[in-house]
Amino acid sequence: MIDDKARLIENLTGVRSSKLNYYVELKKRNREMAIQNRRLEIIHQLSRDINIDMSLEMIVQRVYENLPPVIPCDFLGLITLEESELRLVATQPPLPCKGLVVPRNSVLWETIRKQREQVYLCIAGDGKLLEELPVQELELKCLILDPLKVKQNIIGMLIIGTREKNVYSQNDLAFSRQLADQLAICVQNRRLYEEVVQAKREWEEAFRARVQMQAQLVQSAKLAAIGEMAAGVAHELNSPMTVIIGNAQMLQRELGPEHPSSQLLKDIVTCGLRCKKIIQNLLTFARQEPPVVTPTDLNEVVERVLSLVKYQINRNGIVICTDLARDLPMVAANGQQLDQVLINLLLNARDALDGVEREEKHIHISTGVRRGEDGRQQVVVAVKDNGQGIPPENLDRLFDPFFTTKEASRGTGLGLSVSLGIARAHGGTIEVESRPGEGSTFTLVLPLEEGRS
Ligand code: ADP
Repeated sequence: MIDDKARLIENLTGVRSSKLNYYVELKKRNREMAIQNRRLEIIHQLSRDINIDMSLEMIVQRVYENLPPVIPCDFLGLITLEESELRLVATQPPLPCKGLVVPRNSVLWETIRKQREQVYLCIAGDGKLLEELPVQELELKCLILDPLKVKQNIIGMLIIGTREKNVYSQNDLAFSRQLADQLAICVQNRRLYEEVVQAKREWEEAFRARVQMQAQLVQSAKLAAIGEMAAGVAHELNSPMTVIIGNAQMLQRELGPEHPSSQLLKDIVTCGLRCKKIIQNLLTFARQEPPVVTPTDLNEVVERVLSLVKYQINRNGIVICTDLARDLPMVAANGQQLDQVLINLLLNARDALDGVEREEKHIHISTGVRRGEDGRQQVVVAVKDNGQGIPPENLDRLFDPFFTTKEASRGTGLGLSVSLGIARAHGGTIEVESRPGEGSTFTLVLPLEEGRS
């Protein structure tokens, strides 16, 4: 009875009902605090987890996975503002409209102009948003549009969407603002990272070009010195050779073909003439003239170069075979520079056969015409050896200036880089195919001028 009385008084005075209200209120506050904590955790995690080299798609995905417990979220979109263009760069769920440029009359632009967040209620077919955004298919009813700001500059926008109607509270907007601020930092960092990577790439390219140019200068200077020496020696040899051949021919005439020594004299003349040809080629090779482009027969280049280096190569027990295409069209080229390329390729082939155990060591030189990937005709010279081959990890570095696997007294690492420079100056290239332990093929490819095929 007394208990009932006390309860009655509590009820009448309102003590009991306010206690109940108090606990309900407390529970509600606790729940809000839990959500608030979770939100802070998400923001904190975002700043910790997101790496500088993460793509914007990945960042959006990461955020989207965490949002549903703390804010109604069935759609997340990231828009960037660059060079006065608003572009939808990432969405979750992923949509085909990614990459779209936002038209000027869109409500998204309006948000950017107002520079503040807003809740947008989706109305079917109002066309104010982004036509390509499948709002109806996703059944989105309500969006938060929140500009991304870095020091008062707007760099993009965050879109959070839900299928629920009118659910976003002031609290949600405050959270979206924090999220947008954090994302703005991520987007800005990502941009800076891309700029640095681009600058590094450009610097490396410029450095490579400079090293290649220097290598070309070093090689040219070396070649010029060797050329000068060779020209001197050739000049010196030219006069005695003329005397030897002349005297042998005079003796041939005097003694007549029946004389027992006539065969010896014939050999002297033949060998003498061969020597003269080699001397002539040396003089041509060593001539210090600015490169002139003339119609050039690659078969002749092969013959000329072989007359210079064939002996050196054969001396190493290597057999040279040639397979020169008949009626090979002329290419517009500087013969002397092509000599240089071919000599490099042949001497490299010889070196690749050095110390290799083979029944027959051979270098195969072939010329021909083929159609390139762009459909244009090309004239090619291929130098194939059955030497040691090239390990795959070296293939990318072969044309780098100063890359060599040879001992210092033998290799400079300039031959291929200079050769590629020459091929490119002619609009062509050098291709490589190699199997370690089996051999390599280097192909000089030159474009055939239109109308010459
Ligand atoms: P170098 O001959 O002075 O080393 P190159 O630029 O001509 O300089 O060649 C670079 C490297 O490429 C060589 O050291 C060698 O390792 C490799 N190479 C070139 N040609 C061949 C070939 N035919 N077979 C195997 N390796 C080759």
